[in-house]
Amino acid sequence: MAFRARRPRLGQHFLHSSSILDRIAREVGARLGPSELVVEIGPGTGALTRRLLGLGRRLIAVEIDRRLAAGLRAEFAGEPRLEVMEDDILEVDLERLIRERTSGRAVVAGNLPYYITAPILRLLFDSGDRISQAVLLMQKEVAARVAARPGSRDYGYLSVLCQAHSRPERLLIVPPGAFRPAPQVASALVRLAIEPRFVEWNVGNREAFLHFLQLCFHQKRKTLLNNLQSRFGRERLAELPEARLRAEQLSPERLAALWRCLSRSAPPESAGP
Ligand code: SAM
Repeated sequence: MAFRARRPRLGQHFLHSSSILDRIAREVGARLGPSELVVEIGPGTGALTRRLLGLGRRLIAVEIDRRLAAGLRAEFAGEPRLEVMEDDILEVDLERLIRERTSGRAVVAGNLPYYITAPILRLLFDSGDRISQAVLLMQKEVAARVAARPGSRDYGYLSVLCQAHSRPERLLIVPPGAFRPAPQVASALVRLAIEPRFVEWNVGNREAFLHFLQLCFHQKRKTLLNNLQSRFGRERLAELPEARLRAEQLSPERLAALWRCLSRSAPPESAGP
């Protein structure tokens, strides 16, 4: 499909490298369960869509741009396995959508609109157990943060959020020249095998734990004592050796252990003024 009147504000950088498009589809197919369907985020002009259809599964493609969605419907008319949804992916109740289409789960794939990568990840993680894996192209620097381990410059809240919900694996670096028009940044293909760790880490309420993590990383260069004292009290924190460290020095598992310890004795969170 030809593309005219591109809308840069929607992150419209279209992949034209056949070998990379083939590789993304292969990575999706490699771990596709027998009853799983595929959800594509931002199908654009349909180059990846065509390859994903080649996997032989039902495919739901969510595209916000009306003209592109109409173009996809025309291009793939007569393809019963494809459903094009013209919608903002962030407004889609993904869990419900998948539940209504299959008794199984879904694999999510896409060359993401980079301006909303973090909210898309959060949406995937909030979709219950309906997603088995996501194979996503994202900005290289964001991929580094997603997979970073403690002690590295890239490690932060996004790393712990992703690693609490999944096992991230960086698969491939993609240069700007693989897209039209070329973006100013390099990209990376990432697989997120969705495997929430909350039960294993015994952290209780997921939302409360995630809020705690946000507080831990609130000011990255400050110690946990500084970041957490308004919530847990200086005296209580001073008893804990971890409090002298910065959150970026602790693994997700150690942060979970700290939360278990603190949440046992924490006063309930204030509901605000
Ligand atoms: N998949 C195509 C490709 O690889 O060539 C296009 C990828 S392009 C980087 C991102 C696509 O996401 C664009 O088609 C854009 O219109 C679409 N998009 C942007 N924001 C969106 C949103 N909030 N919901 C759904 N699609 C969106």
